Amino acid sequence: MKSQEIRDQFLSFFKSKNHSIVPSAPMVIKNDPTLMFTNAGMNQFKEFFLGNGIPKDTRVTDTQKCLRVSGKHNDLEEVGKDTYHHTMFEMLGNWSFGDYFKQDAIDWAWELLTEVFKIDKDKLYVTIFEGDSSENLERDTEAFDMWSKHVAKDRILNGNKKDNFWEMGDQGPCGPCSEIHVDLRSEEEKAKVLGADLVNADHPQVVEIWNLVFIQFNRKANGSLENLPARHIDTGMGFERLCMVLQNKTSNYDTDVFTPLIREIETITNSKYGAKEEIDIAIRVISDHVRAVAFSIADGQLPSNTGAGYVIRRILRRAVRYGFTFLDTKEPFIYKLVSVLVDEMGKAFPELKKQQNLIFNVIKEEEQSFLRTLDQGLVLLDSIITDTTGKEVSGVKAFELYDTYGFPIDLTALILSEKGYSLDEKGFQAELQKQKERSRAAGKIEAGDWTILEEDAEEEFVGYDTLETPVRITRYRKI
Ligand code: ATP
Ligand code: MG
Ligand code: MG
Ligand code: MG
Repeated sequence: MKSQEIRDQFLSFFKSKNHSIVPSAPMVIKNDPTLMFTNAGMNQFKEFFLGNGIPKDTRVTDTQKCLRVSGKHNDLEEVGKDTYHHTMFEMLGNWSFGDYFKQDAIDWAWELLTEVFKIDKDKLYVTIFEGDSSENLERDTEAFDMWSKHVAKDRILNGNKKDNFWEMGDQGPCGPCSEIHVDLRSEEEKAKVLGADLVNADHPQVVEIWNLVFIQFNRKANGSLENLPARHIDTGMGFERLCMVLQNKTSNYDTDVFTPLIREIETITNSKYGAKEEIDIAIRVISDHVRAVAFSIADGQLPSNTGAGYVIRRILRRAVRYGFTFLDTKEPFIYKLVSVLVDEMGKAFPELKKQQNLIFNVIKEEEQSFLRTLDQGLVLLDSIITDTTGKEVSGVKAFELYDTYGFPIDLTALILSEKGYSLDEKGFQAELQKQKERSRAAGKIEAGDWTILEEDAEEEFVGYDTLETPVRITRYRKI
């Protein structure tokens, strides 16, 4: 099944259960100092959970463009190294705002996965919240009983508070959750592990696909929990991971979401995916990052030197750097992937098609200017090496190169080691620390995804503008 069809089937399944299909909110969030990028499907609905807004529909479903590169959810360092964390990804979701609860959420998730998508039941595990005595929270036996109708009891596993109790932030709506994991290991792989008690024990083929959150509590400012007047459902399923399962692959990058991009990278850079790990990582990084950058430009966020724009610039530079270092690309080429991306995703996300030229030009210019930086940096690094007595290059000098010229430190380290030199890492870290202290003093930096604003901060309104019909929102003042 093609990815387009998978997306459509998810949405039409929930439509058949009386959900309204709503558009994705923008991935780049404007006007909300607490959150730079949408990192979960629920973000655009948070007011409803807080009880501050009345939704037009009590059941909605969508696919949400998410970016997890900052704050509480930052997967950047995993991307490319593993095969199922992306920077930008789609989160499929269904919501109930005070409408149906646990039973329906569980039954429908199971029905969709096993009857509509026909995933082999023997490949699925579920987790339930094991309880937490320090908070007087009981084990979610209700969810256990509901799952046992569908799943063998030894495939329902307890999960701790970290994984199975979802909280929006330090305060606000929260509740236990159940995750659905898929075990794609071969019989041979399984035989290497004793017992069936392994869920997601860092095996790349045991992957969480869907999280069902049962929102029923409110975390108060003093840290205590109270029952919410209404209970809600918030679910999120990784679209690319679902495609991996349904297309019988063991890596998201082997699905049709990524293969057209990967084939194009292979052609342009004359490389081969699947032959050498470091080249594979570079190809995965580039095919991932071009999506993040293209989608944010389509949302109006251009690479820049501050805030969200800086995050986007860094993502693009990371991709350029991987190409430069491992695929030997000394000329801009990532911009050439834009047309492939638009061909694949322009239908589901028309903003991409609309902004195609802008995306193409911006990426090309960014690549050009960063490649110049890299060239200059290489010359400077050569002269630093010439001035170095001994075999260790000073951390202060490396920091200067990094700070003033934007030359990435890992590239410095790599080049040095290739030339038989080492880097004074401690010295570099000390300089970095000093710089962090300077910028901390200069202004408050983002602490997490849901930073609480100062007392008299302005009221903020968070992205409902994409819902078809405006909903009534009581603006709330953050305290
Ligand atoms: P993981 O444990 O794999 O990092 P998570 O528990 O952080 O996932 P949730 O916050 O529960 O993820 O998000 C809901 C779903 O979104 C996950 O079940 C997963 O399928 C998907 N997902 C989460 N992070 C990513 C990512 N970086 N790339 C692709 N899909 C993701
Ligand atoms: Mg995660
Ligand atoms: Mg998880
Ligand atoms: Mg999860």
